[in-house]
Amino acid sequence: MSNRPRSEPNSSITMPQASSAVEPPEDEPLVRVMALHALSYCERLFYLEEVEEIRVADAPVYAGRRLHDDLLPDDEQASERRSWELSSTRWGIFGKVDAARRRDGPWVVYEHKRGRCRRGPNKEPRAWPSDQLQAVAYAVLLEEELGQPVPEARVRYHRDNVTARVAVDEAAREELRQAIQRARELRAQTTRPPVHENERVCTGCSLKVVCLPEEERLEERPHSPTFFPANREGQTLHVVSPKAQVSRSGETLVVRQDDSQRQTVPIRLVDSVVVHGHAQVTTQAIHLCAHHGIGVHWLTAGGRFKASTMNSFGRVQQRLRQYEALSDETTCINLARQLVHAKVESQLRYILRGTRGNESARSAVQTDIERIREAMRKLDSAQSPDTLLGLEGLAAKSYFAGLPQLLSASVPSELHFSGRTKRPPRDRFNCLLGFGYGLLQSAVTRAILAVGLEPSLGFYHRPRSAAHPLVLDLMELFRVPLWDMPLVGSLNRGQWQIEDDFELRPGHVWLSDTGRKKALTLFEQRLEESAKHPHTGQALTYARMLELEVRLLEKEWTGCPGHFAKFRLR
Ligand code: SF4
Repeated sequence: MSNRPRSEPNSSITMPQASSAVEPPEDEPLVRVMALHALSYCERLFYLEEVEEIRVADAPVYAGRRLHDDLLPDDEQASERRSWELSSTRWGIFGKVDAARRRDGPWVVYEHKRGRCRRGPNKEPRAWPSDQLQAVAYAVLLEEELGQPVPEARVRYHRDNVTARVAVDEAAREELRQAIQRARELRAQTTRPPVHENERVCTGCSLKVVCLPEEERLEERPHSPTFFPANREGQTLHVVSPKAQVSRSGETLVVRQDDSQRQTVPIRLVDSVVVHGHAQVTTQAIHLCAHHGIGVHWLTAGGRFKASTMNSFGRVQQRLRQYEALSDETTCINLARQLVHAKVESQLRYILRGTRGNESARSAVQTDIERIREAMRKLDSAQSPDTLLGLEGLAAKSYFAGLPQLLSASVPSELHFSGRTKRPPRDRFNCLLGFGYGLLQSAVTRAILAVGLEPSLGFYHRPRSAAHPLVLDLMELFRVPLWDMPLVGSLNRGQWQIEDDFELRPGHVWLSDTGRKKALTLFEQRLEESAKHPHTGQALTYARMLELEVRLLEKEWTGCPGHFAKFRLR
């Protein structure tokens, strides 16, 4: 039996009239049926996904996709069609029907869901309102495609192993009409709708990490649940060997070094790809990463950031809000003050902590401590970026002057530090410092692109060719905790070999392959370590904290200010 639907009209059933639809103006894009599902769940979710084009493929979303991929026919007697792409300009919607089936009577639309159903008064299975709306939308699409009425839709809930029936009657059509109209209104507005009033709804929302509803509720409900995840969902794939090639095989990245060395990594386990030096990445692999919203970042072999690809097109409203906010000088100077304060305080706390209980070291850094404190006192009254830059520079000079006192006596003199040299690094310590800051730069870039902000528009650093100002801004928060501290700790533990881990060239020092791998491991381990964020009170990995600070920065101009740059070393 053919599984193609037949479209001959059924004379016993009358078709709904054309006037019942809600035809949009000719140039208005159609609304995705899945977006109507989101709209029914939460208007803010609809707005984030459809207007700001922020979509997160978390574990349940992957599982949902697998469910749809795995659907198998279960009724050999029925005419059936699966994954059927349909659209209607009359209704102004488009979407992909999971399955449509007909045995003896009219066609029935099937929608498959992983979760549980709702229950009626007699425990009978019922569809959730958002699933119901989605199923009705597919039914009217099918109706128009076939020229036949589709009076019923069914939603299959796999966790309960039950099917809920949905009547495609006039009341359901009217609800659909209103939802489509509301979707169009929301698409035209420039501000995010408020968070859902029921915090339990947020628990199952794939965008809770992006939306951060707890921040918005904090004032009214200080004990709201926290949704921001403490750990990363994926890992960074670092490709270090210049001979390596990253290619694609289905939903997997394949890293080949030569014919004998081949490593496969499922894309769902990866949160970004960082290519060090001249390894190759195929177009197919870049497409796979882009499809899953995974950035590919290129660094030089010395750790200097070169470029990124990230599928973050669209997001126009988000960018417009950023441009508007960061075009305001008062906003910029206030944010810059908070940022520099956080950085200088971290430097001070690290020097204090590193010399605690060591009288000779403490007295050696006492003048530096006083100078940093003095710079901090003046920060609050700084009224221009130049003044802030000057104070930050003074504090940095004293910090780097005091930093050698944190190295233990067992650290060989070749690894000591006697002042900052950048391009090129002239000693081993500066080589390590620069390489780690390069890794930090790529990690901050990843976080900014993942959140969807424009890295070229910052509030403190001036535009220059080598780096994005917003990346440089946010790096200031993390230089001490994410690299200076683990680096000094690793030196004190004797983890670096002065010969094997470095390559000395005339006038500069590079990391060798083994040195680079050690630095990558140290940095990635640090990203996995947790610290308590003062605002949420949560212990977060540093990888998550990077992202949280970017999101809190965005909240400064999206109606929930006052939480950015509050993290401090203990
Ligand atoms: S987290 Fe809550 S408020 Fe935010 S989009 Fe999801 S459901 Fe809506």
